[in-house]
Amino acid sequence: MIALCQRSNASCGACCGLYNRKDLRRSALREELRRRTAVLARAQRTLPGFRAAAGELARDLPAPLFPSVRVCPLLGFLDAEETRVGCLAHPLATGGADLRDAGVYDASTCEKFLCPSFSWLSEGEAELAERATGDFHLYGLVVTDVPFLRAVLAALAGRTGEAVRLRHLDHRPFAAALRSLLALKEELAPGSEGLFGAFRPAPDGGEAPRAIDYEALGRERSPHDAILLCAGADPRSGNDLEALEAEVTRRLDAAVSAFPPHLGSGG
Ligand code: SF4
Ligand code: SF4
Repeated sequence: MIALCQRSNASCGACCGLYNRKDLRRSALREELRRRTAVLARAQRTLPGFRAAAGELARDLPAPLFPSVRVCPLLGFLDAEETRVGCLAHPLATGGADLRDAGVYDASTCEKFLCPSFSWLSEGEAELAERATGDFHLYGLVVTDVPFLRAVLAALAGRTGEAVRLRHLDHRPFAAALRSLLALKEELAPGSEGLFGAFRPAPDGGEAPRAIDYEALGRERSPHDAILLCAGADPRSGNDLEALEAEVTRRLDAAVSAFPPHLGSGG
């Protein structure tokens, strides 16, 4: 099975509630994860010990953006350098005991859960997301929104005539430009659809169709509609369509300009 949650150079904590808060700045997330990691490091490695620590942490969790979506206090940093997020109650983190029953679900639910990206993403796309984002904050936002990642890659391929490959990311100007384009996900209005697009279910449990109502806005469909749609550029989402469109254009142009021209096609 494809590995998405923990990859060599990226990790995700989206389904544990990492982004379910109003202040989504990297520094704010880092501060909260640091607080949890410190409290859990002092906790006894037993279920009662972790339950007590989880209760203590839960009292000061940032207010959730979506109260119906759970935020688990057991998500923290797995490494001293604070580069990798993950479950601190997992046996690999505790050194043996499975303490996930102390979290907001139970160990069995956590063990079995696979987000929709597991069935949609290819290994090649996951590798690109990992290399192009490079940190837990942006990786988690991108890897959980497959349509966004695909829309960005398709827009680049449409302009350069070549599919983006891992080796293109060896060219640092292009890697930086692609990261900047993907980082639109970090700059959206709090609570906007673009942030949590991949998790927006329709009433029947399927995926809710997303559409920007250009007619109601009295304007033509944007050439970047696929990206804007995933970014939640519908004005009702809280994002400014015109401003977001201008940013997409600017960042896409920059990525196209930085695309390494001397490389041929291939893997
Ligand atoms: S949202 Fe998906 S990729 Fe991220 S941690 Fe959860 S299951 Fe893994
Ligand atoms: S206990 Fe479950 S929900 Fe909580 S951090 Fe671990 S995997 Fe995520």
